[in-house]
Amino acid sequence: MSECGRLAKCIFFNDQMSIMPALSDMYKQRYCRNEFDKCARYVVASKLGPERVPRDLYPNDMIRAKKLV
Ligand code: SF4
Repeated sequence: MSECGRLAKCIFFNDQMSIMPALSDMYKQRYCRNEFDKCARYVVASKLGPERVPRDLYPNDMIRAKKLV
């Protein structure tokens, strides 16, 4: 895979979430720079639009993402 196309605007990637997970660097490496299609934020953004991504949705929370889409 490759880098996510949403890097520049993503509040997770840019450390703008109110609470950043302790493993955020690992998530960035796993999702943002590799398997972005498995990222919960990416899935919601691509199905519903970026404005519908909850501010507190973490990349690894695919269960919540699937409920949203
Ligand atoms: S958190 Fe998800 S949507 Fe945001 S840049 Fe990383 S892979 Fe893309």
